[in-house]
Amino acid sequence: MRCLVMEDFGRMAVAEVADPKVTAGHVVIDVVATGICGSDLHGYTGENGRRKPGQVMGHESVGRIRALGDGVEGIEVGATVTFNPLVVPAAERPLYRGREQHAPGRSVIGVNPSVRAAFAEQVVVPAENVVPLPDSVPITWGALVEPLAVAVNVVRRVAVTAEDTVLVIGGGPIGQSCVLAAQHAGATSVYVSEPSASRRALCEQLGAVPLQPGEPVEEQVRALNGGPVTVAIDAVGITATIQDALRATVAGGRVGLVGMGAPVTELQTYEVSTLERTITGSFCYSDEVFRAAAAWVADGSTDFSALISEEVPLAEGPDAFARLAAGADIPGKVLVRLDR
Ligand SMILES: [Zn+2]
Repeated sequence: MRCLVMEDFGRMAVAEVADPKVTAGHVVIDVVATGICGSDLHGYTGENGRRKPGQVMGHESVGRIRALGDGVEGIEVGATVTFNPLVVPAAERPLYRGREQHAPGRSVIGVNPSVRAAFAEQVVVPAENVVPLPDSVPITWGALVEPLAVAVNVVRRVAVTAEDTVLVIGGGPIGQSCVLAAQHAGATSVYVSEPSASRRALCEQLGAVPLQPGEPVEEQVRALNGGPVTVAIDAVGITATIQDALRATVAGGRVGLVGMGAPVTELQTYEVSTLERTITGSFCYSDEVFRAAAAWVADGSTDFSALISEEVPLAEGPDAFARLAAGADIPGKVLVRLDR
């Protein structure tokens, strides 16, 4: 089979490798499409140190079951599936049920360098990580379940309801997913702070109100919303955006921190203490949240098409990585098609 190998930082290549063998409790998936994540890009450039040369990445994926390992039941060859890339050792599963992302022994398919992940024509995953999808929605939407699960998790963590007005900071693929997840949770007024014009336009297409870049976020939110919002979701995660998130929210407001822009930031502590705001961290998703995101995609109630900007064949995968790393103006997700 063919796959996309990160030969070195900044260098991706198409390679021919042996087909993987199915093992007990696992399935082999014929991959149809895998999304390029911001974390893949930062791994590719070497920035985040979370990817290693020689690795085959890819954790946002959809495909069809090719083979079942011994003991696998309840799923059929040919079924359309996505998979939850978060793998929890069996011994930790009972204790971390409902919060699998906290399990100390967790690993992530596509991050773990010793696992050949989904930028490949075939991928092997544990059967319990597989989530079936109906054929009634476009198959490529299955590759969006993972980033949507990240968004569903933060939206749930800050408990967005129809009573809330929401500011999303960062209008990239995760911010876009947060816009849709906040709307899905009932929020009707969602504002987005994002410097890129094409991303602002995409967020507007999704029904959010884009703020003007270069103008103070807090004042714009107050003017457009008739006062501060009740919830802000920071999908960037640097000092300036956390400050914007705090200052744009009401006293008692909730700030969800899902962006990982900087490991250390400067916090305006009085903005938290004196106004009794809450900052809530959010990372990945539980198994239940991942399945909820898949069910949302499967129910056909939301059109996710706008989230996908490009689909490139495997042979053009290296070029897609190079373009994205060079800052190409691509508003939404780039999917690598492994079936082309
Ligand atoms: Zn991702």
